[in-house]
Amino acid sequence: MKAELLAALREAEEYVSGQELCERFGVSRTAVWKEIRQLREAGYRIEAVQNRGYRLCEAPDSLEESELESIRRTTWVGDRIVCFKEVDSTNTKAKQLAEEGYPNGTLVIAEQQRAGRGRRGRGWEAPAGAGIYMTLLLKPEIEPDNASMLTLVSALAVTAGLRSATGRPVGIKWPNDIVMNGKKICGILTEMSAQVDYVNHIVIGIGINVHNESFPGEIAHMATSLYLETGVHYQRAALIEEIWERFERYYDIFMQTQDLTGLTREYNACLVNLHQEVKVLDPKEPYEGKAMGITPRGELMVDTWESRRLVSTGEVSVRGIYGYV
Ligand code: ATP
Repeated sequence: MKAELLAALREAEEYVSGQELCERFGVSRTAVWKEIRQLREAGYRIEAVQNRGYRLCEAPDSLEESELESIRRTTWVGDRIVCFKEVDSTNTKAKQLAEEGYPNGTLVIAEQQRAGRGRRGRGWEAPAGAGIYMTLLLKPEIEPDNASMLTLVSALAVTAGLRSATGRPVGIKWPNDIVMNGKKICGILTEMSAQVDYVNHIVIGIGINVHNESFPGEIAHMATSLYLETGVHYQRAALIEEIWERFERYYDIFMQTQDLTGLTREYNACLVNLHQEVKVLDPKEPYEGKAMGITPRGELMVDTWESRRLVSTGEVSVRGIYGYV
């Protein structure tokens, strides 16, 4: 009932009477009062005025199921929301839940990751309460070969969500980093369990730096947070909602062709490397060229002095000639 109560308080412009809440939820006044007390204990500031009722004045930066469910506007993402105080990694947790039969659309969220992961076995710095660490579980009917493009679909959703929430420029460093002011604010890690021609499940992990005031030495020069960029401590639940609402729209477009045909133009418009000189850190042989945007399959087109090369996601990192972007 907590999520519904919170939603009712949010919906009401002003006070909502205890009587109305009792009728709506079919419970006693004492039961409503008990829930209000628990919400206050959890950090919600709720005013209670005689003859008028209750009013929500302030909500904490909560990542509890009830908070997320009370503001949920998505259609299927977050049908099940599972929140943890601490996990190894939300991707690992989501994979376990997938094996246990949790459905498509399940969202796993944690306050802290002990062993957050990036691509190719690298780490993701995820201190308690500072960021958004979440994973979406998908059980889609798509070819395994098409799954890696979902990283780019997610990157678009995060970019659009953060732009709308902050009103600031946010861009994508191909394929999976979201950047503000030339620094990385978000990373995305997509992992899949599949047979040769059948996807069991896909997990899309998204880590966003929200409240961080600093970063450890080795990433300090290339990492940033929403707080460092804007001076604002954004509520994480609201950001999460902004992102998944957009993801659903982009995902529908992706599913029509099972590639990025319908999203290429928008993705390229977000690309911070577009028409810039980049260094492709190919383990076999690094090379430089001009980034010319993505193909409908999500490869980065790089024009070198001799030819156009297509860089596939997963293989390599791309850097600016003089730094991270
Ligand atoms: P790149 O393309 O920049 O080489 P990547 O896409 O291969 O990166 P990711 O998997 O997105 O890498 O993220 C892992 C890397 O991101 C780490 O190796 C580290 O450099 C950096 N990193 C780790 N934690 C954070 C964080 N909280 N914010 C920004 N960057 C981070």
